[in-house]
Amino acid sequence: MEYRHLGKSGLKVSALSFGAWVTFGIQFGVDEALEIMTAAYDAGVNFFDNAEVYAHGQAETIMGEALQKAGWQRDSLVISSKVWGGAVANPKPNQNRLSRKHIYEACHQAMARLQVDYLDLYFCHRPDPETPMEEVVRAMTELIQQGKVFYWGTSEWSAQQLMEAYSTARQYNLIPPTMEQPQYNMFHRHTVEVEYARLYEAMGLGTTIWSPLASGLLTGKYNDGVPEDSRINLPGYEWLKKMFESEDGQKRLQTVRELVPVADDLGISMPQLAIAWCLKNPNVSTVITGASRASQVVENMKAMDVVDKLTDDVMEKLETLLDNKPSGMEFQQ
Ligand code: NDP
Repeated sequence: MEYRHLGKSGLKVSALSFGAWVTFGIQFGVDEALEIMTAAYDAGVNFFDNAEVYAHGQAETIMGEALQKAGWQRDSLVISSKVWGGAVANPKPNQNRLSRKHIYEACHQAMARLQVDYLDLYFCHRPDPETPMEEVVRAMTELIQQGKVFYWGTSEWSAQQLMEAYSTARQYNLIPPTMEQPQYNMFHRHTVEVEYARLYEAMGLGTTIWSPLASGLLTGKYNDGVPEDSRINLPGYEWLKKMFESEDGQKRLQTVRELVPVADDLGISMPQLAIAWCLKNPNVSTVITGASRASQVVENMKAMDVVDKLTDDVMEKLETLLDNKPSGMEFQQ
């Protein structure tokens, strides 16, 4: 495993990490969670991602139980949560969003569910236009000053919102966000490669990127039909099925079919190619992987060992196969 600095902070996160969305509390409980997290931990993963909204708090409860059973040293781990969506099915006013009240209460509730005394990373899961930026930045700063959070960040904020948070922090002598959690994969590139381009240097921004396999599309498992035990068949994920079945989804599926021979030529699997491609981007601090079973973790973690196979020639070939090709991105060898 490689460990990368989270932006310009002193914190090191494993370049591959693991998140609980969809799976914990929906597809399985504590025993399976422990098995999957153990496979990740054994491969060198130190960062485990979560959010108050995942399975309405159940994902945090299950991860907390699994961590207790595993007994790993707390200071070897980087544990996160996210605030915004609320942990109840139909949140009443103040049970979600980014008021100081909810940020503070959600942080304490997340720590209780995860059975930890502090969160290493705490994200604003989405922007909240109804709450003044100063209130958000001040609330996050206070949690850090109280030792309840070590680094705060954002998820799916625009470059403009990030700059506003940064300048608000500088204006009032508060702590700016350290990291952003955007979607990034072969089919979703603009935000990370173009929109944030200036922020890595200007803010020292780190990224903890999500859905490296585009929810499984980039594994190639949907190339010849929909496997029964796959994410898009889960109740509540009909929206994802619709997305896969749309005209755009079908185009992407065709691209995946064209990517498979590239993976075959390199002697690696399609999930490994897609994850290694994310790792090539030097502005990615960590790739948050997801898995519904331990065997997927084992396969995905091997992506770390195949990054070198993605030479300039291979990256160029991939570029010609991918639909969206934003300019201005330099890949590190
Ligand atoms: P991926 O795009 O990597 O999708 C993971 C899913 O793909 C698995 O659950 C599994 O689904 C399938 N899969 C994974 N590996 C393989 C394999 N080797 N072979 C076949 N199928 C495989 O990541 P996620 O969408 O799960 O996102 C990862 C994490 O990112 C989340 O857990 C969360 O922590 C974070 N995230 C954050 C968001 C945000 O807004 N901040 C939004 C979304 C995610 P199955 O087997 O069921 O088909």
